[in-house]
Amino acid sequence: MSLTKNYWPMVLDILKSKISGSNYQAWFSSLEFISTAELGKKIILSTPSSFNKTYLEKKFKNQLKEIINKYYPKVLYIEFKIRNDKNKPNLPVQQEVFKEITLDGNPLNSQKNDNLNNLKLVPIQNNLSKNLHNLNPKYTFDNFVLTNNNQLAYNVANAIIKQPGELYNPVFIYSGVGLGKTHLLQAIGQKMLEVRPNFKIKYTTCETFFNLFLSSIKNKNNNQFKDYYRSADLLLIDDIQFISGKEATQEAFFHTFNELHQQNKQIVIASDKHPKSLSGVEDRLISRFEWGIVIDILKPELEDRINVLNDKLSRMQLNLNQDQITKIAHLVDTNFRDLEGVLNRIQATMKLLPEKPLEDFELNKLLSSYQYAAPMKINISYNTNSPDKIMQAVCQICNVSREEILDKSRQKNLVKARQILMYLYKESLDLSLPTIGKLLNRDHTTVLHSWRKITKELQVDSKLQTLLTQIQKLICSKIA
Ligand code: ADP
Ligand code: MG
Repeated sequence: MSLTKNYWPMVLDILKSKISGSNYQAWFSSLEFISTAELGKKIILSTPSSFNKTYLEKKFKNQLKEIINKYYPKVLYIEFKIRNDKNKPNLPVQQEVFKEITLDGNPLNSQKNDNLNNLKLVPIQNNLSKNLHNLNPKYTFDNFVLTNNNQLAYNVANAIIKQPGELYNPVFIYSGVGLGKTHLLQAIGQKMLEVRPNFKIKYTTCETFFNLFLSSIKNKNNNQFKDYYRSADLLLIDDIQFISGKEATQEAFFHTFNELHQQNKQIVIASDKHPKSLSGVEDRLISRFEWGIVIDILKPELEDRINVLNDKLSRMQLNLNQDQITKIAHLVDTNFRDLEGVLNRIQATMKLLPEKPLEDFELNKLLSSYQYAAPMKINISYNTNSPDKIMQAVCQICNVSREEILDKSRQKNLVKARQILMYLYKESLDLSLPTIGKLLNRDHTTVLHSWRKITKELQVDSKLQTLLTQIQKLICSKIA
């Protein structure tokens, strides 16, 4: 694929995340993409002055080329031209818009109020009012933490805010639960409203679309339904997977989509699956979902989880120490919603004694559903045979011999089996470190090190957890 004007904002957004805001503003906000040349090997950009041109060539050309080449390896040269800068696009003029409310006077911002037959239109003064477009002020770009796995979705979101309907249409974002799809859709809506105050923005869940559609049939006001969605400049539709198996709703959405798309109105769709994996959805819709750009958001990595935790803790004005933060990030590796769940529980606990820092035992309790339960002490009353039975079980499950475990070899699998054995001697038999050392012909400090290491790894390593469970089961069967 060669770099076209459509993809240029994406390049700028990536660059923006790599250089300081002031540098970006000074040198790149006025840079414009003109064309490609020489079969895509060269790109031509325009700058407002020779000063800009020289500076860009000296300071930023290589960095820019590096970023471009990541996505468009074909590009070999960048040429900067000086343009005659006269007109910049004007900001849209603010117009009076209408706030949709239900007959009982409530804004149409909750699903239970999203009932089309209750709709009436009343003028409002401030068209920045968030409820106007069903947007939740809780979800903004300001509190959206960038991670390795949502960077692309974020960049595309910003690109369509700059050029709605022109670049990627539709934008289809998919991910597992709690990874920020709704947050991102809402943030796009809020930002768009800030930049283009006269835009009509409709955020809707697919379920609401479905309910309104049904009610429009029931109440024979299908035209009102059509106008409601087809008048949008930006349609944000969440949880599209809900459309699966609902044929009439798919038909209605198909026409809404076509109408908006033809008019270059921006559509952003969120889903829990890739379009191709949506079952019970017509092919013609699936192909339309893929017309623009399809982006996934993956689970956050450890470092990202730590960043998100730090960000949220400071917003909640909660203080935890770094070990505690790392512990949460290690254990809660599923999604942002679960991380927030833990933080809410921490907040509730800390409210009880606001002056006191959170104790580790309190945190452990709050995290208990995420913790690997350390092996219950298998109640083996110590007798001369019990160490041997544990040894047999470890050897069998770890597939090593007794001689190898007692040997001095540093082979990886042997070291691990030995450490597990020491851990179990301590945990299951309550043997002292020197006693364990004697049994295995090791120093008591080696035993301590092994026990600590396995204890720590068990918190995060699910393979080790499974291995330990297998060994324990075997020990129980040998002792029973
Ligand atoms: P999804 O729609 O993918 O199920 P949500 O958008 O509802 O997920 O996100 C779940 C929670 O996690 C929300 O409270 C949201 O604010 C938070 N969240 C998700 N992604 C981020 C992020 N990148 N930065 C900060 N908070 C996030
Ligand atoms: Mg959601």
